Amino acid sequence: MPRCLGDQFLPAKAVIIATGGLSYPKTGSTGEGHKLAKTVGHTITPLYPSAVAITCNDPWIVQREVQGVSLSQVTITLYRENGKVLASEAGDVIITHWGLSGPGALRVGRLVALACAKGQGPLRGEIDLFPGHTWQSLEELIREKAAPGSKRTLKNILSTILPERLGKVLITLAQLNAECPFERLTGSSLEFLVRQMKALPLRVTGTRPLAEATVTAGGVHIKEINPRTMASKLIQGLFFAGEIIDVDAHTGGFNMQVAFSTGYVAGEAAASLACRKV
Ligand SMILES: Cc1cc2nc3c(=O)[nH]c(=O)nc-3n(C[C@H](O)[C@H](O)[C@H](O)COP(=O)(O)OP(=O)(O)OC[C@H]3O[C@@H](n4cnc5c(N)ncnc54)[C@H](O)[C@@H]3O)c2cc1C
Repeated sequence: MPRCLGDQFLPAKAVIIATGGLSYPKTGSTGEGHKLAKTVGHTITPLYPSAVAITCNDPWIVQREVQGVSLSQVTITLYRENGKVLASEAGDVIITHWGLSGPGALRVGRLVALACAKGQGPLRGEIDLFPGHTWQSLEELIREKAAPGSKRTLKNILSTILPERLGKVLITLAQLNAECPFERLTGSSLEFLVRQMKALPLRVTGTRPLAEATVTAGGVHIKEINPRTMASKLIQGLFFAGEIIDVDAHTGGFNMQVAFSTGYVAGEAAASLACRKV
């Protein structure tokens, strides 16, 4: 298949298209490879963001009080309209003024993008700030921190287990007084506070744009590629590798592994074809 360089055509026995997805266009991945594949007859499945940050419109997020706060190993759970779980993922999360970023948020991003594309957004969700604790053990932890008889305030106690700014937000959401001495807190108020920590409500409106997604979902249809060689089933001598193919995975190196593995297989097969004596 000839390769076009401006107005030059270079004849080649084998060509590999490995131009990446459509995210982070500054890295050079502008979608040109998809256009090229389409031109020669390949199907390009819809492109949408994967491994992408999510946007939320909860006042406690957009009012920037907790902008930049990092949460270690929390769980984000999102629900469908019928109450069934759409996604539940654990990981570190960073709160921004438009929503949630960091690996924990990126892992639910793909399903949010899909659901919102189908008109199912905004989605109801929640963050479990202490997934390693039950409601009861978390309440016990707070009581332990309060040390019986001490006059420590609610704000002060929460700052021992949570970033201080987030603690203040939770106290406000639970409609409590930050300066209230812990011993004066009623059982039901403490229970409500624990509920905020175990199921902090979220309203997820969508994701950041495809250009900001670290991975692109969609691409050259896998049914049109031979997985043993990464060769096109439509065009002799054409191969594909990496994110241009309709394959995407969680963050954590799996997308890179896809690129490395398919690149290796395509490279071997293309070289073998190019070296074959006719
Ligand atoms: C910020 C960021 C963080 C990421 N984090 C993770 C992670 O934690 N885990 C994970 O698994 N994946 C992650 N990824 C995704 C991962 O890097 C990609 O899935 C992987 O690099 C895809 O490899 P690729 O070779 O298919 O495409 P790319 O790495 O995008 O390479 C494509 C190359 O083709 C070039 N190109 C494009 N068009 C043309 C053209 N017309 N002519 C010539 N050259 C062209 C581009 O300039 C680019 O160099 C991340 C990506 C980004 C941007």
